[in-house]
Order: sequence, then C-alpha cells, then structure tokens
Amino acid sequence: MLDLQEFPLIDHHCHTLMDGSHKGNLEAFIRMTSEAPATYPLSDLQETVTYEAVKSIASDATGRAWEDAAEFKQVFRSLDYADYSRQLFQSRRYERLFVDTGFSPAQGMSADDLATHTNASIHSILRLETTAQELADSDKPFTVWRDELLDTVQNARKNGFIGIKSIVAYRTGLELRPASTAEAQAAYQRWTGSGSVSRPLMEADLFHYMLWETAPLLIREELPLQFHSGYGDPDENLLQGNPLLLREFIEAFCPRGLRIALLHTYPYHREAGYLASVYPGVFFDVSLIIPLGASSARRVVAEALELSPMSRFLFASDAHTRPELFALSADLFRGALAAYFSDAGVSRHVAKDKMDRWCRMILHDNASALYLGESGPG
Ligand SMILES: [Zn+2]
Repeated sequence: MLDLQEFPLIDHHCHTLMDGSHKGNLEAFIRMTSEAPATYPLSDLQETVTYEAVKSIASDATGRAWEDAAEFKQVFRSLDYADYSRQLFQSRRYERLFVDTGFSPAQGMSADDLATHTNASIHSILRLETTAQELADSDKPFTVWRDELLDTVQNARKNGFIGIKSIVAYRTGLELRPASTAEAQAAYQRWTGSGSVSRPLMEADLFHYMLWETAPLLIREELPLQFHSGYGDPDENLLQGNPLLLREFIEAFCPRGLRIALLHTYPYHREAGYLASVYPGVFFDVSLIIPLGASSARRVVAEALELSPMSRFLFASDAHTRPELFALSADLFRGALAAYFSDAGVSRHVAKDKMDRWCRMILHDNASALYLGESGPG
C-alpha cells in the first residue's frame, strides 16, 4: 500500500468551524455527522459508523473517553481548543482550505480565527445565490440588479475570491437552459415585486439567465464554477441534483474554456466521473459522502475513478463545525486512495512513481492549478 500521510492536502470545498465557546457541546459534535435536520433524533445519529469514527478521533487526541454530555463537556472544558484543533489539522497535513462562506455553522469562526485554529491558509469562494439575494431589492430595477451581480462576479478575483459556487441544485435543479432577458426580467419581478425579496430565489428562468450570463465572465477571469451536485440536506430534491442534467450548460461553455467543479456528486459520482471523462473542463470530488458515509469510502473512490482521468478528481471534505470531521475526511480519503492504487487492476499496470504523482495531483496539485493557476512539479 502507498503511504500517503506525508502528501499535503488542499481541501477545495469546506466550511468554517464553530467557535471555541462550543467546544464542549456534545449535540453539535453528534449532529455534524449527518445531513439530517435538527428535528432528527439524536439517539439514531449515535448509532452510525461515522459517529464512532469521529468519537475515536476525539478520544485519541484528548486521551479521554466520555459517556454523556456532562462528561464530554468535562473532557473539553480545560483543553486549549486552538491547540487541539491545530494538532488535528496539522497531523493530517492540511495546507490550504477553500472555504464556502455561504453556509457557516451557527457561531462560525471568522477566516482569521479559522487560520489560527488550523495553521492552513484560507481562501474564499463566492456564492452566487447569496450575492444575487443581497443585491436584490423591490425598488431596484432588473437591469441595475443584473449589472451589479455581473460586476461582482467580474471583480471576484480582485476582491480575494478564487472561485464561484452555485447551489441551483437546491433551488430549481441542475437542468439549465438559455433564458431570454424578458423571461429573466419577468422572473425578477415575480421574486421582488411582492416585497418578498427576503425569501430564497426560486425562479428557474432567473437562474438560467444568471448562470448563462455569468459563464462567459468566468471564462475570461479564469475563475472556476462550483456546482453543488448530489447528496445534501433534505431541502434538496436529490433527483434534480444529478450532474448529467448540466449537459446543455457544459456543452455550451466547457469547450469555450469554462472549468466546472462538481461538488459532492454522490450517489452520482459515477456519472460525474463519466462527465469528467468526455468533456473538457469538468472536475469533481466525493466530499460529504466522505466523511459521512465512512464505511463506503474505498468503494466510492474506486467508482469515482472508473473512467475519470486523475487530473480531474480532487480532494474535498465539505467538513464544518469541528476539527474531528476534517481529520476523519483526510484519513478516509487517503486510505481509500491507497486501497485503489493497491488493487491489482491498477498496480500491475502503473509504476510506483506514476501512482505517487497521481496521488499528489488528487490531494493537492489539481486544486492549486484549477483555482490558483499554479503548476505542479510536473
Ligand atoms: Zn459544502
């Protein structure tokens, strides 16, 4: 088996941690192991392999065990949380975190605090829907809103963002098509006209228009576009999150230079691997299922790599809330990748140097090239 412990990590999609005042909060610790809503029974969430896995990471790192919420609080009360957190991130060699600030856990840390708690460098991703929402106003004409939105995207790199993310899969689904200005304008008026601009944007025509108008700017600015796809919380209709639905959009823009990163993808990771294998500019990951489907990590990585070139697959955790979840993602992903390369179907064809090179690309270099334009050692 390859030993991948020394290879540094870029996490190209994750979220911030909950601040240290919650270090003794057992409920937050349990709930981060699932996408279930807050009404889902805590007792069931403790009956999973993933919960046992984060628990053992915390027990190993603290040298303590606990039975209940009071004992958990006791274990963490006296501990220097920044130190503890850094130890987990550094032992897994997290070098850079690409953070989606569109979702933060309650009491999420600032970017500076996150850097202090991880010793990693922090880069931000701009969420398109959040920007669209912040700029919308029932008094603002459609064309002004559109120009401001496109301006924000155009200046994103200058303002410190390294990519754009869309959660259209959560709203009207991934089946994007061109929409006319008139259709978009009518949709904008339906959304903002009744003074209900505070409700989430759910107008398909406006999404189609926004993404169709944004894509050429992203090509010009060399900014990658992330799409939430596949698995997420039950707000999403998972049927509409199949990345195969993006075909028309991919065909319109990827041959012209747009680079798309399909996030999460499970249970459509095989479909995502197929897309990466036939279209230029399509990249993907298997975050979220790794770590939350702890027992299937090896199978998922092997399926993701059935067709995809190694140059299109990236490590991400989609972790948030606490450092143990990041540690688990890194452990599971490295283990799954090592297992994939030890399979006779791979290892009998590929030299050790090549396998090392591919692992380095998946864990680090593909992301640094895609988002930061850095070229790896080659
Ligand atoms: Zn996420």
